[in-house]
Amino acid sequence: MAARILDGKGLAASIRADLKQKVAALVQRGVRPGLAVILAGDDAASRVYVRNKVLASEQAGVRSELCELPSSVTESELLDRVAALNADAAVHGILVQLPLPKQVDAARILQAVAPAKDVDGFHAANLGALLAGNPAVVPCTPAGVMRLLEHAGVPLAGRQAVVIGRSSIVGKPLALLLLQRDATVTICHSRTKNIESMTRQADILVAAVGKAKLVGRAMVKPGACVIDVGVNRLADGSLAGDVDFDAVKEVAGWITPVPGGVGPMTIAMLLENCVRAASL
Ligand code: NAP
Repeated sequence: MAARILDGKGLAASIRADLKQKVAALVQRGVRPGLAVILAGDDAASRVYVRNKVLASEQAGVRSELCELPSSVTESELLDRVAALNADAAVHGILVQLPLPKQVDAARILQAVAPAKDVDGFHAANLGALLAGNPAVVPCTPAGVMRLLEHAGVPLAGRQAVVIGRSSIVGKPLALLLLQRDATVTICHSRTKNIESMTRQADILVAAVGKAKLVGRAMVKPGACVIDVGVNRLADGSLAGDVDFDAVKEVAGWITPVPGGVGPMTIAMLLENCVRAASL
């Protein structure tokens, strides 16, 4: 039987509609949530991501402010910009679009964002709170994955979860969130040996790697829930995830498409984090 499709696009649209109402209520109380997006340099993909985030903010009634800086920007100029946004009461969320130009220490910039305005959840204080089991601002992509799982009623407690990828923005925080929901979690990465023997045990399998069609049918346990975080641009210009969707959907119990799965949820969680920050 073919897998059930986890429709991130549809769920994200309903979350954004709810947020629009919350924003309207905040505006009635005299608070318009504000999101500042820092875009440094001319990375084409970053420009597309930022445009989508700004558009989604405006649709929800969140005021957005795009701070464009040249690729020659210095670390101290960026730190000054972050400090000014930290001090601006009309800005509730600050997003620093990655990657930053190579002369800039991205970690230093991310740590300069006030934790309460860190709507990406990348500040050490927010990642630490997640590790301590007391999450404050949760990184958007892992939060979006958890919301998709919850919405679909995928059982997590006592189940085997395998996360492929150990980045600080996706793999590691997602592993912690799954652990918090009582899954038994394994993290795989580029040095993992015999990865198939791990993935075939997974009731929940997440791919967050950045390699098109890395996960094939033989890697998936029948009936598993397969979440594809990957976004890969193919030679013909189309987008593909890390999962071979057509093959895996024949064996999985649930599966996210790319596009239309995790990506829209990431933007919805960004808006949710921003509206929550404005509500505090
Ligand atoms: P990243 O920082 O490059 O991390 C990739 C991870 O994959 C690393 O931990 C790496 O292992 C591991 N890896 C690489 N090759 C592997 C292999 N052959 N087998 C197993 N593991 C392997 O990437 P990221 O920022 O986490 O993003 C991952 C993907 O998700 C990308 O395609 C990105 O575009 C996408 N993404 C999507 C969204 C969304 O909203 N849909 C949001 C964020 C990211 P090592 O640590 O050993 O190098």
